Amino acid sequence: MRILLVEDDSQLGESLEAALRLEQYAVDWLRSGEPVRAALASTPYDLLILDLGLPGVPGIQVLRQLRADKHRLPVLVLTARSTVADKVDGLDSGADDYLTKPFDISELFARVRTLLRRKGEQRSTQLLAAGISLDPVERVVSFNTEQVVLTAREFAILEILMRNAGRYVSRARLEEGIYSWGEEVESNTVEVYISRLRKRFGSSCIETMRGVGYRVPG
Ligand code: CA
Repeated sequence: MRILLVEDDSQLGESLEAALRLEQYAVDWLRSGEPVRAALASTPYDLLILDLGLPGVPGIQVLRQLRADKHRLPVLVLTARSTVADKVDGLDSGADDYLTKPFDISELFARVRTLLRRKGEQRSTQLLAAGISLDPVERVVSFNTEQVVLTAREFAILEILMRNAGRYVSRARLEEGIYSWGEEVESNTVEVYISRLRKRFGSSCIETMRGVGYRVPG
């Protein structure tokens, strides 16, 4: 699950980014609203967390633009304002949920889960292939009915492979799925995670086709 966070306050942005990563989400953090449109056009996000009080283009305008573009991405709005009029304005502009600063991080997590679950219900949530069951919303993996605990990146790679079960996925696509912007991509990283996943689920759970990519048999 990949989240786009738009927050101009560096301290809050940094702590939200770190906290969400610990919860195993891939997070990209932008400090203003201008690059949001381009980011959404180039990367498939599952959720947008949007601060309304931004320098330059205000958050509410970012939100209106996104809905005018027919983007159905769930949006959780963050704001210091707490008047009823602001809330109504935010929800009318296409926000799915609203959180007033200061908030408790556990409340943010709960709302994020709810929005992702709701989004997941529109697709089918549980992914099943090769004896592995993966729930992208609840973040649970099991193998032959036993629960398996994975690191965030192992989970991210497995999720992409499971979503494409039966089809080969290129290494570049997998790299994209595990790295957020600005992080260094080492050339053998994907191989390292593939080999860890094979240790956990058995070597036949992921097939390799040289020069093409990897797949979980469908
Ligand atoms: Ca702000």
